[in-house]
Amino acid sequence: MNQLCQRTRSSCGACCGLYNRRDHGEEAVRERLDARTDALAGVPRTQDGFREAAARIGASEPPSLFPSVRVCPLLGWLDPERTRVGCLAHPLVTGGADLRDQGVYDASICETFLCPSHSWLAEEEAEIVDDTCADAHLYGLVVTDVPFVRAVLDAVGRLAGARIERRHLERAPVRDSLRRLFALKEELEPGSEGLFGAFRPGADGEPVPRSIDYAGMEREVSPWDAILLCVGADPRSGNDLDRLEGEVRGRLEECGKALLGGGGGR
Ligand code: SF4
Ligand code: SF4
Repeated sequence: MNQLCQRTRSSCGACCGLYNRRDHGEEAVRERLDARTDALAGVPRTQDGFREAAARIGASEPPSLFPSVRVCPLLGWLDPERTRVGCLAHPLVTGGADLRDQGVYDASICETFLCPSHSWLAEEEAEIVDDTCADAHLYGLVVTDVPFVRAVLDAVGRLAGARIERRHLERAPVRDSLRRLFALKEELEPGSEGLFGAFRPGADGEPVPRSIDYAGMEREVSPWDAILLCVGADPRSGNDLDRLEGEVRGRLEECGKALLGGGGGR
């Protein structure tokens, strides 16, 4: 498995706290990355320079949502076009100095940490997520939740009678409709389970099973329960189960139809 953090079309900063704010929407995230990248642009590439800058940036930002996922002020844009999120203290970015000790962890943790998706996600699945998201926001929300990726791909496969494969994404209607399914992750209430599932391992390191309290709501288990579970479509997460179920159903049908349709192109 190739690294998931920087892929051909997408990049991720989830474990550096990219989404760990009350407002985790794309616009707010982009603004924070803009501000940090600008603030670090003229700072000397030294331990002292980055220590002071990190403290200044950290103090200017709103509080985090979950204390267990730290928010690093050294996460910013790697490219001039501001399409790729990554570590601005990495030696490949600073031009030599490793300044990651000035972030919220230390350089050795940053260097060695790989989130659980690296061992769970198959290469074909990783390529599908990269091709479909192709960005620095949705990608990180999706790639860190392997059960969600599998639940979506399985559900589309069940509907269409054929498993979605990477080659199918060359057809724009398939790619776009799969993206709309993945984009459910961008439409959740702040603090939803669905946003941070990947960071809640149990005592044995495996993810804690999530569950929706259907009985408490006196209703049947949804046929799309596997997806709804992963997006935390439980009223206890602040999400509207009926609305999300309707969205899942509609988007699955659209994707299944596109997969069976055959036409279209990039
Ligand atoms: S959450 Fe995983 S894929 Fe994302 S940057 Fe961290 S290690 Fe890489
Ligand atoms: S210093 Fe570490 S935690 Fe901070 S952005 Fe870089 S890799 Fe992420």
